[in-house]
Amino acid sequence: MKTQILPADAPQTAQAAAALIKAGELVAIPTETVYGLGADGLNPEAVAKIFAVKGRPQDNPLILHVADAEALTHLCHDIPPAAYALADAFWPGPLTMVLPAKDIIPKTTIAGNTTVAVRCPDCAVTRQIIRLAGVPIAAPSANISGKPSTTTAEHVLHDHAGRIPLIVDGGSCRVGLESTIVDLTEERPRLLRPGGITPEQLLEVLGDLVVDKAVTAQIDQDAVVKAPGMKYKHYAPAAPVIIVSGSREAAARYIRAHFQPGDRVLCFAEELPLYEGCAPLAYGEEADTASLSAGLFSALRELDDPAVGTVYARCPVGGGIAYAVQNRLKKAAAFHIIDAEVAL
Ligand code: AMP
Ligand code: MG
Repeated sequence: MKTQILPADAPQTAQAAAALIKAGELVAIPTETVYGLGADGLNPEAVAKIFAVKGRPQDNPLILHVADAEALTHLCHDIPPAAYALADAFWPGPLTMVLPAKDIIPKTTIAGNTTVAVRCPDCAVTRQIIRLAGVPIAAPSANISGKPSTTTAEHVLHDHAGRIPLIVDGGSCRVGLESTIVDLTEERPRLLRPGGITPEQLLEVLGDLVVDKAVTAQIDQDAVVKAPGMKYKHYAPAAPVIIVSGSREAAARYIRAHFQPGDRVLCFAEELPLYEGCAPLAYGEEADTASLSAGLFSALRELDDPAVGTVYARCPVGGGIAYAVQNRLKKAAAFHIIDAEVAL
């Protein structure tokens, strides 16, 4: 199969993509978070292709992408007022809500659950494709399972050339990290995954928020968890990643003392002068957290090279978007963190 790439702003792109979706084929779609590997979310055979092409575990449910909040009533039941309040505040945008699923959603899409994850992406061409296809588009991040997510059309081509018919090229993803996921099916709203909509923003609308343990700790492979995707190895380049925390100076002292030829340093742009001779790669500016979220996955992909030894990574501190960057980087590092202020 030849993989075609069409620019998002070309006149026939949305039509062509929607026709493939309706025919049960896969299309890689741009969003503001990451590129998705999309299929008709109501067609179990089409959805099965996503799992096969990605190599995704069958118990990891997909997010349904919709064109507007009205779609919620077709897909979900017992929708709490909080869902509409969140949609009002943050849709279209990087927020996914977990709600009770109606029976029209195939079990393959939701991996046998009784709940479904729904999101309205902030990307005009993708909403147009959804409208033209007339179905919700099920789409996980378009990377091969376990690898860093895809934030450009080139990343998708790298992982799936010859295996999917179409990639819609919408340029680099603005947010660069997967959506925030909030579960609204329990008494209290629960954050399952941090992302571009911050915990602070959610709290402002919801007045309450529980943070799931999958966000802050390593989850056992056999565990039964609310966020199935979070228990798998994620976002990781081939080499082991070690986060080195502490002040700039302490971290540079530690890393320079342990650096071996072939290792790499993943740092903030402001720190590049501290790592001369240590093959540093900056993923953004510490002073501009949005640049860190936008640049993280591209950098992790660049480091995904069997020739790389150990990756020493610097991680931003604090809330807001930095909270989501910490979550992805800690998962990429399998929670291996060294405090340079105390370590020798
Ligand atoms: P991905 O699109 O690859 O970032 O993966 C989608 C994420 O959404 C995974 O972490 C899933 O486990 C999560 N997810 C999807 N549906 C549900 C659901 N019904 N309940 C909880 N988490 C979900
Ligand atoms: Mg993913």
